[in-house]
Amino acid sequence: MANIIDGKALAQKLRDRLKSEVDMLKDQGIKPGLAVVLVGDNPASLVYVKAKGKACDEVSINSFQRTLHKEITQKELLWQISELNNDPKVHGILVQLPLPEHLDEELILEAISPEKDVDGFHPMNTGRLVINKPLFQPCTPLGIIKLIENTGVDISGKEAVVVGRSNIVGKPVAFMLLHRNATVTICHSRTQNLREKIGRADILIAAIGKPAAIKGEWIKQGAIVIDVGINRLDGGKLVGDVEFDGAFKKASFITPVPGGVGPMTIAMLLYNTVAAAKRQSKGIRV
Ligand code: NDP
Repeated sequence: MANIIDGKALAQKLRDRLKSEVDMLKDQGIKPGLAVVLVGDNPASLVYVKAKGKACDEVSINSFQRTLHKEITQKELLWQISELNNDPKVHGILVQLPLPEHLDEELILEAISPEKDVDGFHPMNTGRLVINKPLFQPCTPLGIIKLIENTGVDISGKEAVVVGRSNIVGKPVAFMLLHRNATVTICHSRTQNLREKIGRADILIAAIGKPAAIKGEWIKQGAIVIDVGINRLDGGKLVGDVEFDGAFKKASFITPVPGGVGPMTIAMLLYNTVAAAKRQSKGIRV
């Protein structure tokens, strides 16, 4: 039977540590600031933005929220971002996704200064991750690595299987595992014999967005299972991408949903914001 990886507790520990660091920075006259840009009134986005503001308050990071009309033009949004890029009180900028369809998401993310890109989605930060010279790394993948490291199991030499190849989770976490010397297989919707590949995984990362699509019996005995999926069932219950009860019997460590990866994502956002403030206060440029 598996040990449950308590993401909520680890995230709290990291936030406590960050709070002490922010207090120390304050003594040096540095107050980290995060700007969150929300376009429109998508209910899920509103919840996420609120949670990010609350998390900032808890560790005494300044949070600046810009709520913009859903019909804002691309030009106007780019202007808003350029204003934040030039604001010395703002060390990190996050544009809450998804954006309304008339806006070019790629162009907007590229407009954020890489030095303030605490979500780690700017192509320059993606490129730096690929060549193992990371500046800001995407928050969910970074949180996943911290969860694995916290088990005390050495990643080096392990067979890691990542199911999902999105730019925000699957691909970056695969590179992070590779740079820690895992042998990495990336699977996706066209992968053949998924079960056989999952059966080889010492470390399994499931990031597909399909409730309980990965069956417990497919999992290798003793594997570490990180379930990134957040799927809401008809009755409102949240479940991951892995069939939990079956996986729990075979894994050595497993993340629950909720309470596993989710809380780590926001903790890593705060971590990146504090890192950005420290860099900018020293005048370090990319
Ligand atoms: P995407 O929809 O962008 O990507 C899903 C990936 O899964 C794709 O690469 C897709 O393959 C692959 N896939 C879909 N179905 C299957 C299947 N049956 N077998 C194998 N691969 C499959 O999702 P995200 O990466 O954005 O998110 C994944 C999940 O993680 C979601 O549930 C999301 O809510 C959750 N999430 C959780 C976060 C957290 O903080 N806990 C943060 C971000 C995401 P293909 O490329 O071929 O289409």
